[in-house]
Amino acid sequence: MKIFTPLPGEYVASALQRGNEMLGLKDLTRKDFYIKPVPRKGYGYALGDKYEGRNHAIFQFPHFFTERHMSGEVLQNHTLYPLTTALGRTRADIVVTPVVWRKICPGCALENFESYGTVYVHSRHVPASVRVCSVHGLKLMDTCTTCSTPINKHQLSKLGVCSRKYQFMFEESDSFSLTYSKFIADLLKYDGPPPRAHQADWAIFSSIRLKYGNEIKQDDEFIPNFIKSEFGVDVKHPARTYSDNNYTILAFLGCETAERYLNLIFNTTESSRLGKDLKSLYYGL
Ligand SMILES: [Zn+2]
Ligand SMILES: [Zn+2]
Repeated sequence: MKIFTPLPGEYVASALQRGNEMLGLKDLTRKDFYIKPVPRKGYGYALGDKYEGRNHAIFQFPHFFTERHMSGEVLQNHTLYPLTTALGRTRADIVVTPVVWRKICPGCALENFESYGTVYVHSRHVPASVRVCSVHGLKLMDTCTTCSTPINKHQLSKLGVCSRKYQFMFEESDSFSLTYSKFIADLLKYDGPPPRAHQADWAIFSSIRLKYGNEIKQDDEFIPNFIKSEFGVDVKHPARTYSDNNYTILAFLGCETAERYLNLIFNTTESSRLGKDLKSLYYGL
């Protein structure tokens, strides 16, 4: 027996966790919500794979979702899948259901408790590099400021009562972190086809070269150092094997908004302008 009634934008694990709490069951394990990318089986494995390999990810779902025919809905609306798809990431190392997921925005907590009678975790807060809420601009909490319980040990059903005191704890964030959170939140609304990986690479790395060309000219390590100081993570450079998290950061550094990124992928006027701008910057053409 399970209860699964996800709320708007709710992360899959959060909805399952709330259901377990209602039933008095113990905490979730990873396998309850792990949606596993299936590795490619080589060229010519299936129709459409012949020339370039398949261009979309395939997943294995927990039994609970497949038997209820809700896999597609869960994937699209309650995981990081739209983000990985928008960025053209289709390989077996993508992570659409991170195992670390419990972060709470005090503003969302208050509002959600008022509207839905419960606090829940939003998918847009789940990526490791997201530190503030894209809607409220508030720092995400990993410890409940009311009862001092770490959020990863806190019953979601008890956050409602605790959240009533959060209104006195608001702390504004810097605009860089906020713009990044909006970039993630907007790409999580993406429901189109995945661009080819090389298209995404081109849009992202050309934008970075255009924007930071001078800095990179003076210091090869400018981008990795910048990312280290802003996000606290190491980006191997250059590499074809960026983690989802690092690739998303690079996409943001280059494009800044989801709209700009998607225009570079789908709008030929915008992408050819970028090509021209790059040429004139590097060759004076
Ligand atoms: Zn919020
Ligand atoms: Zn609490």
